[in-house]
Amino acid sequence: QWIFLNGEFVRKEDAKISVYDHGFLYGDGIFEGIRVYNGNIFRMKEHMDRLYESGRSILLNMPYSQKELTELVIKTVEKNGLRDAYIRLVVSRGPGDLGLDPYKCPNANVVIIVEPLAIFPKQLYETGIDIVTVPTRRNRPDVLSPKVKSLNYLNNILVKIEAHLANVSEALMLNDQGYVAEGSADNVFIYKKGKLLTPPGYIGALEGITRNAIIDIAKELGYDVAEEPFTRHDVYTAEEVFLTGTAAEVIAVVKVDGRVIGDGVPGEHTSHLLKQFRKKVIEEGEK
Ligand code: PLP
Repeated sequence: QWIFLNGEFVRKEDAKISVYDHGFLYGDGIFEGIRVYNGNIFRMKEHMDRLYESGRSILLNMPYSQKELTELVIKTVEKNGLRDAYIRLVVSRGPGDLGLDPYKCPNANVVIIVEPLAIFPKQLYETGIDIVTVPTRRNRPDVLSPKVKSLNYLNNILVKIEAHLANVSEALMLNDQGYVAEGSADNVFIYKKGKLLTPPGYIGALEGITRNAIIDIAKELGYDVAEEPFTRHDVYTAEEVFLTGTAAEVIAVVKVDGRVIGDGVPGEHTSHLLKQFRKKVIEEGEK
């Protein structure tokens, strides 16, 4: 396995950065998680746009142009010889001193990791998952925009811990007003009475690339799709609930806070959208 580290390809065991890196000291940096399907990088431009927008938003000087970094990601995938893979692209503020000052970190660290896919157990897609809602809230969009995919994942980690404490694998976070925002690393959709809803970005959800692909697919299929705020009540009484993300793709949720969703098995719309999503990722690569 070859890791891209600041302009060089190094072996995994040699891929090391300074303990003074502000990504390590303060979570100061940004990242992307991207999928390679059948040798093609899915929605590469969207991921790179989001990364560069995140960088601009937090005033992180990117050491490569978007075009250069895009090419480096492609090169890293090729170097690892993988046709189905998960890419982790990380840009941290880089090493500085122990103070917070990002102006003392002139050299960002750029890391590209490409790994074989650790696909979620097939069984989870057949049975659906059981989730809970947790006390940890999504940060307010005016404090740190959820559009910034930053290395500050402490609230997401707390969500994961709270899920584990409740003996489930995933959980939903609400925003400060109590509207449903998203999972620890996935977006959420509900289907009810012919309408497919997902929270808008301003509620405090990351505008996931998978989420956006599902919105596109659902529209093409003629669904009535909207980005609208909703509450836990709407989730509990939905006919179908599912989560979307680069790693999970589309996964059905069959129980939320002990309330059984629909018939307690993955619903027809969720299954249909997953099938269409898997078709689309291959089709887009063939274009
Ligand atoms: N929400 C959060 C907080 C995430 O970290 C992620 C993905 O990493 C998502 C949603 C899903 O986004 P995407 O579909 O771009 O992977």
